[in-house]
Amino acid sequence: MGPEAQATTTDKSSSRVLVIGAGAAGLVAALELCREGLEVVVYEQLKEVGGVWIYSPEIESDPLGLDPRRNRVHSSMYQHLRTNLPREIMGYLDFPFLPLPKQGRDERRFPRHEEVNLYLRDFAEHNDILGLIELGVEVEYVGVLGGKDIALSDDRNLKWLVRSRKVGEVDQVREEVFDAVVICNGHYAEPKVVSIPGIERWPGFHMHSHNYRVPDPFKDKVVVIIGNANSGGDISKEVATVAKEVHISARTWPVEQQSVSEGGPRKNIWHHPLVERAYESGTVKFEDGKTAKAESIIQCTGYFYSFPFLDAQGLISVEDGRVAPLYKHLFVPSLGPSLSFVGLPSKVVPFPLFQAQMKWIAKLLSGKLTLPPPTVMMAEVEKFYQDIEAKGIPRYQTLKIGIHSYEYVDWLLEQCGEEPAESWRKEIYLTTGVNRRLRPDYRDCWQDQELLEIATASLRELAKKLGIEVGQTSEKC
Ligand SMILES: Cc1cc2nc3c(=O)[nH]c(=O)nc-3n(C[C@H](O)[C@H](O)[C@H](O)COP(=O)(O)OP(=O)(O)OC[C@H]3O[C@@H](n4cnc5c(N)ncnc54)[C@H](O)[C@@H]3O)c2cc1C
Repeated sequence: MGPEAQATTTDKSSSRVLVIGAGAAGLVAALELCREGLEVVVYEQLKEVGGVWIYSPEIESDPLGLDPRRNRVHSSMYQHLRTNLPREIMGYLDFPFLPLPKQGRDERRFPRHEEVNLYLRDFAEHNDILGLIELGVEVEYVGVLGGKDIALSDDRNLKWLVRSRKVGEVDQVREEVFDAVVICNGHYAEPKVVSIPGIERWPGFHMHSHNYRVPDPFKDKVVVIIGNANSGGDISKEVATVAKEVHISARTWPVEQQSVSEGGPRKNIWHHPLVERAYESGTVKFEDGKTAKAESIIQCTGYFYSFPFLDAQGLISVEDGRVAPLYKHLFVPSLGPSLSFVGLPSKVVPFPLFQAQMKWIAKLLSGKLTLPPPTVMMAEVEKFYQDIEAKGIPRYQTLKIGIHSYEYVDWLLEQCGEEPAESWRKEIYLTTGVNRRLRPDYRDCWQDQELLEIATASLRELAKKLGIEVGQTSEKC
């Protein structure tokens, strides 16, 4: 057990806990809370579970995602998306993401989005948690019962007032009180857009990757793509299969890619620095002075964290990509553990991280473990922010834990008295990162076959224990 987790005997198993959202985080939240004997209900605004893994061809009425009155589409999934992580490390810690001998499944190591959605459903069915989920219920308000005085007091027995509504039923607001709220609302639904001088008069089609589904609308067009992270990288390659020219603009390029021109199989991809200005003539000028006469701009510039339902009495702020103050990326010190934020870290392997977070949260809520006093947590959070500022890490990268994500997962597991994640997970995470940087076809060709075999053997063993029949594993590269 870790130094900051103290075992207690308080029995809180009668606590009633609300989980907001039934994506990958909300599903494992429900499971871990049940395992700790807590009474759980999950409210999910959509008509099915799976969150971002539910593909919909529908797009928002404002393709840039800025109009607050636009119709909302939660998922940013595009039609041909294949995972950017191999399935053996992508799955939860104790539910293998192996191909199953069922029709219509994608057996590949980096499968399409439908396979992930089916895996999440398998997980929910196997663990019998679908019955805890109320679909089509949107949470509109979460606040401390009793308001600011209670939130600011030393009272640690906080209760949460929650207002929710059946989607489509305008007048039917339900008001309830919960002992704890676990927020699993995802963070890929509120587009972040960079401002481009002159864009008001630029005549082309301007959108955010949140509303990208298929490449067809860009056939024979000159397209500027802003951003070269996961979405920018994938979407630019896909669009380049049909577009006339694709100009990718990014803040930074690896040295070997800085001056790529006429790249890609159709030799129609160019790499540029940031966009300097857009003109009425259609021209887009980059900071290196080069230009493109563009018909479309796709911003692959990321997303904002957003908790529109949360009334946190000024105790939490969301600014420049930093949700603060958060102890261990999970709790506002004065409100923990009864309010928690699951899945905020970025550049991670999400599902196992969600599960490790939830194991700790569930044990804190059941009273088996306790948090340090709020002043101690606050001091640690402040030191963490000072350290990252001293290292010159920008605020918006506060939650980008990348290479440190397994240290974090292991720390959480240690608090719960569990073994660290298997070493093959960490090694495959690193080999995949290298392979992805080196080869555009990293999903179909890899050099870590030996590690893959170790992982597969370990996951097959786990499947056997769970009584899950598995199919043939991925083709060799
Ligand atoms: C395009 C794209 C590709 C990705 N590719 C990969 C990949 O290859 N591998 C990988 O591991 N990860 C990938 N990810 C990351 C992915 O986001 C995580 O894997 C994970 O699925 C996120 O789960 P979540 O539960 O945190 O959020 P979500 O899946 O977004 O789920 C949140 C849920 O909360 C619900 N909700 C929100 N607000 C409310 C409310 N007020 N009331 C009720 N319900 C609400 C939403 O409807 C949604 O169902 C990708 C993400 C995107 C956007």
